[in-house]
Amino acid sequence: MKIKAKLTLGLWFLFIVILLMGLTGTHYIYKLGKDSKAILKDNYESIEFAKDMMQQFDDISSADVAKAQEATNLFSQRLNQEENNITEIGEKETVDQLRVDFENYKKDPSSSVLANSIRSKLYKISEMNMQALERKNRVAQKTADDAVLYISLLLAICIMACFSFIINFPGYIANPIRQLTESIKEIANRNYGQRLHFKSGDEFGELAIAFNGMAKQLDLYENSNLAQIMFEKKRIETIIDNMTDPTLVLDENNKILFANPSVCAIMGMREDDLLGKSAPDVAIHNDLLRTLLGEQHIGKELKIYADQKESYFIQDVFGVKNEERLLGKVIVLKNITKFHELDEAKTNFIATISHELKTPIASIKMSIKLLDDERVGTVNQEQKQLISNINSDTQRLLKITGELLDLAQTETGNIQLNFRKTEPKMIVDYAYNAVKFMAEQKQLELDVNCSDQLPLVNTDMEKTAWVLVNFLSNAIRYSPEKSKIEIRAEQTNHEVVFSVRDFGKGIEKKYLNRIFERYFKVPGLDKSQSGTGLGLAISKDFIEAQNGRIWAESELGEGSSFAFALPV
Ligand code: ADP
Repeated sequence: MKIKAKLTLGLWFLFIVILLMGLTGTHYIYKLGKDSKAILKDNYESIEFAKDMMQQFDDISSADVAKAQEATNLFSQRLNQEENNITEIGEKETVDQLRVDFENYKKDPSSSVLANSIRSKLYKISEMNMQALERKNRVAQKTADDAVLYISLLLAICIMACFSFIINFPGYIANPIRQLTESIKEIANRNYGQRLHFKSGDEFGELAIAFNGMAKQLDLYENSNLAQIMFEKKRIETIIDNMTDPTLVLDENNKILFANPSVCAIMGMREDDLLGKSAPDVAIHNDLLRTLLGEQHIGKELKIYADQKESYFIQDVFGVKNEERLLGKVIVLKNITKFHELDEAKTNFIATISHELKTPIASIKMSIKLLDDERVGTVNQEQKQLISNINSDTQRLLKITGELLDLAQTETGNIQLNFRKTEPKMIVDYAYNAVKFMAEQKQLELDVNCSDQLPLVNTDMEKTAWVLVNFLSNAIRYSPEKSKIEIRAEQTNHEVVFSVRDFGKGIEKKYLNRIFERYFKVPGLDKSQSGTGLGLAISKDFIEAQNGRIWAESELGEGSSFAFALPV
């Protein structure tokens, strides 16, 4: 039954009880009233009449004629009234006899027999009514007793019903609501196993069914979400585990979330000793982690002895963010050992080759000098021209071997500078000539803008030119065909700024501050343009060794501009 129906029924019950009590009360009050009225009218009046007649009867036989007459009239009047108020069995016969006696007595007032008979009749009437009065009084008493009994009975039922209502009803409404509130709190605390057990078929029962349905759906949803999250986590863990680069993932409180096998190997720790631990705590006993957390080595080369060999890494740190805050970071160590070894091999190779070439070239020069000497023998004009060509080529060869040696020097860390006061134009011209042929092949326009009036700079001409050539060969490499490259040298304050601007793809902002790092190459650029990522790093070394500054500016899609400034 529904709560509404139950409430309606309860109220109807109360209404009927009240109605019954009211009706019963009214009924009994009415009945009592009627009884007492009957007593008054039927019997009390008859007794009064009999009493009056008794009093008047004494005066009827009085000597005073007027008084006797008045008494006779009054007696007659009361007798008439009594005749009209016959209520009891036998009363009529008595009153009729009284009337007969009275009429006879009026004719013969001296008859004592009649007088006695009248008195006894009056007494009988009075007695008869008195008895009736008592009987009716008993009936009224019984009515009153019945009224008390029935009304008390109804009252008791009513009190019991109300009492049970008072005791049960608040709980009946409030208990389910309290249980519901508690269950909702449990759901809010993600305890989706919570259920309500209202057995009643009323609105609370329906509420429990709806609530349990909701909790079940939430439970399902939570479980499927959890499964999805676990699946994603597993996938990410697998990816990280399979990354060859050592990778460490920390949360926002620097707690270690993931550590792949490579990072465990170079840290010399087991995964179980890292996961879930606070990174700064682990770092107290682990030098490498301390270095990584310090972040002062980001972008610099790290030499780590691991797996019984020396390896070289570059540290990268990526912040993990959502819209509002930092959620953690990923530390990746890029293994550059292979490049390092290649580089070393290349440096050795360059050093050896350039050294080995120097001797035969020197001897070729010597031979040319001899050939050119008229004392050795005469040569014709054509042969002279050939000798001159060989001479200038040899000169170039010597220069190149010299440069190669320089490169090897910077890479071993000992740059030898050969300062001379140099005209900026000379440097520009030298570089221009060096790349002219390369540019022509791609049909690039080289736009040189360099005044003759620029102040001299104190510099190692060859190394500076090498830097400019490096800028230019990069610009040529990353420029589309038939585009333009601008070469500029101009004075600003106490510096001469050399710059090379191209109109190629440009470099993304986030990579711009890294391109002067060793081995750094912008990811995703044309794969076939396989440089080593060393050119700009060597350029930086060369320029900074001469107290100069070097920088790059670029806008993606609009080209790049590389520049260095040397003090005047
Ligand atoms: P590489 O030998 O690879 O050219 P560099 O040190 O000279 O080495 O250059 C480093 C990286 O900078 C290059 O790999 C390239 O991605 C980027 N870079 C250099 N110059 C340019 C340029 N003019 N335009 C676009 N990217 C450039």
